[in-house]
Amino acid sequence: MSSLIEVKNLSKTYVSGEVETKALCGASFEIEKGEFVAIMGPSGSGKSTLMQILGFLDKPTGGEYLYQGRNVENYSDDELSVVRNQEVGFVFQAFNLLPRTTVYENVELPLLYDTEKVNKEIHKNKINKALEAVSLSHRADYFSNQISGGQKQRVAIARALVNDPKVIFADEPTGNLDSKSGKKIMEIFEKLNQEGKTIILITHETEIAKYAKRVIRVEDGEVVKDVENNE
Ligand code: ADP
Repeated sequence: MSSLIEVKNLSKTYVSGEVETKALCGASFEIEKGEFVAIMGPSGSGKSTLMQILGFLDKPTGGEYLYQGRNVENYSDDELSVVRNQEVGFVFQAFNLLPRTTVYENVELPLLYDTEKVNKEIHKNKINKALEAVSLSHRADYFSNQISGGQKQRVAIARALVNDPKVIFADEPTGNLDSKSGKKIMEIFEKLNQEGKTIILITHETEIAKYAKRVIRVEDGEVVKDVENNE
């Protein structure tokens, strides 16, 4: 059986004008289905670049990325947009909710990309299930500016969950939150992982990384440590 995610000697060099930035230089690791991994490292070490590649948002300039055993380089653009929408969900530090839009409509958003399969009743079930998973069913009709930061991030998690993806990528998900709301967010990820979701969390905070079961440490674009988290 192949791993869910396998990267071999992955590299990414950004070129702008005469300037080349090596964001990743030869990262290799595997992630199995159901893992909870924290990717840690200082600012500028390549964490977000790695997430963009693993989440099919960007392509490496060297090395290989195999998703479920298949080289992502061989995916067509259509296949890439399907995996991006169905296989993975994203949660970012800045929540990225639509303003003047309800909680319900924000969670519905990923379902609207699949215009061939619009079925309001199925949508409703999926959205309600996602809102239940983050304990926000009672706020479905609130507008995104009427809820707290912690609740906004819970809406973002529900939005990431609505297509029932295999993997959730969370890039500094607690970075804009007070420690109590942050703890609640991490407990949601912990629960989702117990229910079988693969969680890949990017953080530079040790306290947040403690929720993960494995820590991959990146420095200057290289994996310098990859250990089980016993804390
Ligand atoms: P981290 O998420 O760990 O802060 P990043 O992956 O964002 O690190 O960045 C790694 C390096 O790549 C940094 O030096 C950053 O300035 C550079 N970088 C990131 N994105 C781009 C881009 N789109 N164009 C040019 N350089 C970039």
